[in-house]
Amino acid sequence: MNKPAPTFYYPNPRTLHYCTQCGKSLERIIPPDDNRVRDACPHCGAVHYQNPRCVVGLVPILDERVLLCRRAIEPQYNKWTLPAGFMELGETTAQGAMREADEEAGAQIELGDLYTVIDVPHAEQVHFFYLAKVLSPELNPGSESLEADFFAFDEIPWDEIAFRTVSTTLEYLIQDFPTQQFPLRNYAISPEKARQS
Ligand SMILES: [Zn+2]
Repeated sequence: MNKPAPTFYYPNPRTLHYCTQCGKSLERIIPPDDNRVRDACPHCGAVHYQNPRCVVGLVPILDERVLLCRRAIEPQYNKWTLPAGFMELGETTAQGAMREADEEAGAQIELGDLYTVIDVPHAEQVHFFYLAKVLSPELNPGSESLEADFFAFDEIPWDEIAFRTVSTTLEYLIQDFPTQQFPLRNYAISPEKARQS
């Protein structure tokens, strides 16, 4: 099988063709009292609203090193990332971040403050990264990671970072670390910037 494009994993646009309530074909309309085009079902009346997805992750620190994972999955296979992933239904952002650290690195961590909240409107996502203290150097990467390792700040493989939300979070970390003051950083990533990565 040929390797699918990243849009295979995260369809964008996320237009639906069939109603998940009744299975009939959908149409693209602006429903009454709405101001956006939606996938709506003329058969059962369901309106299938689409909203941004949340990605939750951690900035795990041990001494003066940061924990990164090398991705064993597409997209960005073989690139390095902070432990992060899509938030699951029924969990909080903090619970999701802790779960990803366990799944991707097998790291024992103590959760810290929320650090970066990054809007990625062109990808229809919002990314949340929490600071975290790593309690033990022992790691046990799961199936989503080829390996996990700690990097001194001057050893971070910038050319092999998977996502702009990760590299910008790491840039803020290096900027803030000397003072140990980590104000919440909320910013947006544009498509132009994303293309540079
Ligand atoms: Zn329907």
